[in-house]
Amino acid sequence: MTAVDEVREILQGIRRCLTAGRDLGLEPPGLSPAALAYLEGGSAVQRTATLEQLRDVIGDCRRCKLCSGRTNLVFGEGSPSARLVFVGEAPGREEDIEGRPFIGEAGKLLTRIIENGIGLKREDVYICNIVKCRPPDNRKPEPDEIRTCLPFLREQLRIIKPQVICGLGQVAASSLMGKECKISRERGKWFSYMGVPFMPTFHPAYILRNPRDERSLKKLVWEDVKMIMAQIGLRSGD
Ligand code: SF4
Repeated sequence: MTAVDEVREILQGIRRCLTAGRDLGLEPPGLSPAALAYLEGGSAVQRTATLEQLRDVIGDCRRCKLCSGRTNLVFGEGSPSARLVFVGEAPGREEDIEGRPFIGEAGKLLTRIIENGIGLKREDVYICNIVKCRPPDNRKPEPDEIRTCLPFLREQLRIIKPQVICGLGQVAASSLMGKECKISRERGKWFSYMGVPFMPTFHPAYILRNPRDERSLKKLVWEDVKMIMAQIGLRSGD
């Protein structure tokens, strides 16, 4: 093993420790945001007190290559004190045009889940994505793009302090879990992200792309949603 390989291995070990610590809700002491970002392989994010301040910090972000194809950066929207945060994959076409998350067909389904299923208003929860700019042709965000953008989501979650995070789809769930996640296997189970209970479930777009399985997929999502409701102290009607 060369000296470079050894250093790389040490850095990877430090990254794993930082991630594990943060998943337990522990903030590493005495490290600047820039040093942390270097060790974590992401962007340096200045600590902010509000979502508006964070949005200002992100600005006209050019930190990853997704900036070149976007029309609007989609920061996220909802209550800054939401008990429940939904995290999707990336903005799609409508979201890119409007600069708002989950407003296309998948977004309408998510809104029905929130309003008709959970019984909250859409503005009572917070909705955002793993990456804030639309990938070309709606491809999946690439690992370097996720790594660069994820610190912004972490900062959003640090400010909001939700009681529950719901990860929508494989990309969101894998990014938050730090490893490949198969939704059909991991949905309905509790994990932890930054010390917050986190549950993966199917992305609404996946349900819409599979009309033959729509009923059974919706049933599974409803089972997950009921567990999320119980976690934040809401009762379901059935
Ligand atoms: S995806 Fe995130 S890191 Fe990349 S340009 Fe957009 S806001 Fe910046």
